[in-house]
Amino acid sequence: NKELPPHESCVRAVCSSRHQNSKSSLLITCGGKLRMSFYRLDVLTKTNTEDGGFDEKHHILDVHFLCSNKLPQTLSMDHRMNAVKAMPLVSDDANDKKHLVLAGDSDGSLHLFIISEKLGQQRYTSSHMLSTSSRPILCIDLVRVSNSLLGIVGNSAGDIFIWKLPGTISSSDEDARAFCDHLPTAPISNYKAHQMGTNCISATAVTENKNSHEHDILICSGGDDQSIAICLVRMKSNVSKEKSFFSLEGIQTTIIEGASSSALKGVKLMKYQAGHLLYSVGYDQRLAIWTVDISDIETKIFVKFLSSSPVDVADVSCLDILRLCMGNRKKKDIFAVGGEGIEVFCLDPSIPDAVTALQSSDYLLITSGAGLSVDSGLSTFESMPEEYTELCNPSMLVEDPVRFQKFWLNFAKVYSETQPHEGYYVLERLFDMYSQKKKPLYAHDAQLSPCWIYSSNIDGYFRRFRCFRGCLCEIHGLALEFRCAYGIGFASGQKRSGRNWDQWNEQILSGEQCKGSIFRVDDPGLDSIINKSVVTCQHCNLPARPNVLLFHDTDENILSDISIQRERYQEWEMMVENDVSKGRSLVILELGCGVKVPAVRNESNEVLRDSLERARSSQTTDQKGCVTLVRVNPKNAEPDNEELDLACHTVSIFGTARRVLCVIDNWLHMF
Ligand SMILES: [Zn+2]
Repeated sequence: NKELPPHESCVRAVCSSRHQNSKSSLLITCGGKLRMSFYRLDVLTKTNTEDGGFDEKHHILDVHFLCSNKLPQTLSMDHRMNAVKAMPLVSDDANDKKHLVLAGDSDGSLHLFIISEKLGQQRYTSSHMLSTSSRPILCIDLVRVSNSLLGIVGNSAGDIFIWKLPGTISSSDEDARAFCDHLPTAPISNYKAHQMGTNCISATAVTENKNSHEHDILICSGGDDQSIAICLVRMKSNVSKEKSFFSLEGIQTTIIEGASSSALKGVKLMKYQAGHLLYSVGYDQRLAIWTVDISDIETKIFVKFLSSSPVDVADVSCLDILRLCMGNRKKKDIFAVGGEGIEVFCLDPSIPDAVTALQSSDYLLITSGAGLSVDSGLSTFESMPEEYTELCNPSMLVEDPVRFQKFWLNFAKVYSETQPHEGYYVLERLFDMYSQKKKPLYAHDAQLSPCWIYSSNIDGYFRRFRCFRGCLCEIHGLALEFRCAYGIGFASGQKRSGRNWDQWNEQILSGEQCKGSIFRVDDPGLDSIINKSVVTCQHCNLPARPNVLLFHDTDENILSDISIQRERYQEWEMMVENDVSKGRSLVILELGCGVKVPAVRNESNEVLRDSLERARSSQTTDQKGCVTLVRVNPKNAEPDNEELDLACHTVSIFGTARRVLCVIDNWLHMF
């Protein structure tokens, strides 16, 4: 909230620049009469210890004025700076953080400054002027390519100029002066992007391979002519003994006419795991999203409109997006649309990654844990109070059948009265989407379901959806069903011994009829049974138990029912792995599986590891199968095993399953 000293006339542009992992950054403001001001920003973290010993962390933004530029003696009133951009310079002195600042004015001149962040010393500011054309400069972006910085400059005639500037500086002042002696006198390239003014520009280097001598730079611009221009520039660096060359190899442009119903005011390219998205904002107050497909980079750039939504600020003038990396793979994109006020949005950049993976895969395995149930407002094994854990042991049915059954019947009652949340309906639509994808290539796959569910949830919600019923593996059973409990009297096929168990086992009849005596306790007709003091099996007189795998459970009837489901799942999983080895792709969508009871989480990890191995060992070289784990968890969405190279196949989304599924659903509608 600190107020900065005012400019004498309007401020036309601002920007900031920060060295990697630095807590300080450079802020630049510029505007009328060519005035430029440079500030240093520091983020200070202070811990105040309150009276009660309560620590509170405050983040304070500290602003130091560094300097202003020297102004020319003869200046007309309307001579002004229109655009500014800054980037860190690589230096041999880590304590002296320097930045290159490039500003463009209304006469078409570029002003270049080298600014150090150092405080409290005689300041040396070097500045240099490069002239382009006589048309006013409207926008600038900088992008680092190897040891150079490329300055991309747009003017009011719709032209874009590419300047190659040095990206490194030596620590001595003499060298800093020499730096300016070696500045270029002309741009390395220019192209006509728009019929009228180029209002906004965003550039990014797209070559991943650092050893490559070819560098591809994607430049996107928006104009007064309501069009977006996307240009791919290929540079070649050639380091020989005498001199390093850096030459322009090729340039190709795609123009989207009528990209907005009025002038474009802001564009920003953002990189995701699967590719680039372009965000644009126009004077028509709409923020639009586009996919920029450069996979076929040699022939054409494909740009596709995804969606747009209105923004509230009037007189829209700019857009910027900042990616925050908060550690533990937690990320956030902060959008700011400026105009008459500023509107701020937030997006988890993992969402587009997850959506692209879902869109482009052939098979889907949903692994779900307690978190999915918790989102329905249900309590689970994991979230239950300690005192109830003893009721999760089947021997309690022998010791205190009334208390045991009351607890489990109440569980079943709550489950049957609660509705599945909207996340389940998103999963239903996902199933539908996968079913409509083109059929697998291989004959034996004709009947293979594209999806399966591996779940530890005992609420049975998946069974309420027809599409899930045939492909469900509920590893902990179903709380809405009760069954004869005679099986708990056995362990590994032998009768348990002891006074209580002897009494129990004496009451067992043949067992054959009791084996399949499963009944639902949410059926209204069963009220009378439930109201009895002890609910018993309809064949023998033994108390009934929930059809749920309990702690230390030895009931063969439960175990075998679950293992039948497991075998069907494993058979499916084997066939999918086999298909992955032939170039098919799989997404494992993990929902709310915590680290405390990691059974399902471990299954996700194992399937990811196994199918990745199959994909790598595959004989076909033309098409490699792809496997992605999308891990949704409010606290622990990180990959479990960094060193096993599984991390780069994991998309971490921090959030509750219910909320994240709804956001994914919105995005799926756009793609
Ligand atoms: Zn029975």
